[in-house]
Amino acid sequence: MLRALAPSARGSFWLDDVTAHAHPVLDADVSCDLAVVGGGYTGLWTALLAKEAEPDARVVLIEARTVGWAASGRNGGFCEASLTHGEDNGRSRFADEYDQLERLGIQNLDEIEATVAKLALDCDFERNGAIDVATEQHQVEWLRDAAGAAGTRFLDADAVRAQIASPTYLAGLLHSHDSALVHPGKLALELARACTDAGVEIFEHTRVAALDASAPTLTDGVDVRTADGPIVHAHRVALGTNVFPSLLKRNRLATVPVYDYVLMTEPLSEAQLASIGWSGRQGIGDCANQFHYYRLSADNRILFGGYDAIYHYGGRVRARYEERPATFERLTSHFFTTFPQLEDVTFTHRWAGAIDTCSRFCAFFGTARAGRIAYATGYTGLGVGATRFGAQVMLDLLAGEQTERTELKMVQSRPIPFPAEPLASIGIQATRWSLDRADHNAGKRNLILKTLDAFGLGFDS
Ligand SMILES: Cc1cc2nc3c(=O)[nH]c(=O)nc-3n(C[C@H](O)[C@H](O)[C@H](O)COP(=O)(O)OP(=O)(O)OC[C@H]3O[C@@H](n4cnc5c(N)ncnc54)[C@H](O)[C@@H]3O)c2cc1C
Repeated sequence: MLRALAPSARGSFWLDDVTAHAHPVLDADVSCDLAVVGGGYTGLWTALLAKEAEPDARVVLIEARTVGWAASGRNGGFCEASLTHGEDNGRSRFADEYDQLERLGIQNLDEIEATVAKLALDCDFERNGAIDVATEQHQVEWLRDAAGAAGTRFLDADAVRAQIASPTYLAGLLHSHDSALVHPGKLALELARACTDAGVEIFEHTRVAALDASAPTLTDGVDVRTADGPIVHAHRVALGTNVFPSLLKRNRLATVPVYDYVLMTEPLSEAQLASIGWSGRQGIGDCANQFHYYRLSADNRILFGGYDAIYHYGGRVRARYEERPATFERLTSHFFTTFPQLEDVTFTHRWAGAIDTCSRFCAFFGTARAGRIAYATGYTGLGVGATRFGAQVMLDLLAGEQTERTELKMVQSRPIPFPAEPLASIGIQATRWSLDRADHNAGKRNLILKTLDAFGLGFDS
């Protein structure tokens, strides 16, 4: 097992697999119609959609490091329609509007697919669907109950193993149209390319330190102050800063960083690939609370991630949290349990990323400083597709427009914040322990989980 992990290098395969185009550092004051903070998917979609809507607007995007270096360049690449972190979570929180959210989510995924085609975004987009797999007996009934929803099909043990040969599978639920796969690093860089083609000015290695709306240079605007001095005088500001310390005090306790870990194999040989089948190339996730997700890349590597979701006391984003030998060894062991026929395969990359977890498990939105600043964050590990929707919401809010999106309860409400330390840490560790117990006890939820469920609270990656 350790033999397989030994050759792996630390760092995202997706970022290793691309050649980034460098953008300049902001070295002088600028004025613009829209300043976007953050060069992940949220910021990039916001800038691109703003330019599409108003080609003459001056749009400036400011990124503290490099485009796509954070979650957007490290994720599993599951581009899902769900805006609510799955149907159960969505229905339990937004029962009255869930069908509408589902429709808007499919529309969002369709529009991502159309944009990829229209702008020729080279990002290995494959709309292959996904399979939820049951690896414990109690999960089989969950999948049987969930089957019947539009675009889903129950697969018994033989049927699911005929798709992907794993001895651990007891059943599956095939989702045929609400999920795609992308190369996350390519998607980020291609969105940046589309932004610059559309006239967006991107600045890298430029950290925003403060937003000042008290005496702005532009009437009714915001002075976006960078750490190194230059100021962006903006009419409106969109924040796509995800899990990093919010520039708005009100959002500081709304999300916590939860570390998620990922392995990438070497490309499989034809014989190795044949031994597992997987000709449908669907994204796979198991049904446990502490779940694994895995998929094929375009060059037939397997990305295998999830299970451990680690919160560190103090809730900070730190590079040193990305190395966690015990977690990588556990993932390696789970990989070979899932695919024992791949015993010769080795891993080339191992990495981790911080997930912007909020207590309702799906994004929240809002404005500050009399509607001049908008934010979208809290995707809780399902933002590859949903960030485009978040970008649209921010642009609606900044325009002061009433749209179908801004009327949603999901858009108008906010999650309950996490408590300050030490309570955050105590609560999150107790919840993790309870979720692990539920996974090993036929899914039965203990008092802690039932109480959190009753208050609509929780913790997830
Ligand atoms: C390991 C892992 C696996 C995941 N797998 C999936 C998956 O398969 N499917 C899925 O849907 N989601 C997945 N996610 C979640 C998904 O990656 C995120 O929801 C999404 O990338 C969020 O995009 P973003 O632009 O909001 O944030 P980010 O990509 O984190 O970008 C935020 C950017 O803001 C910049 N920034 C922050 N503060 C400042 C500042 N003050 N000044 C300037 N710049 C600033 C940062 O440098 C960063 O580049 C995963 C996440 C991780 C970590």
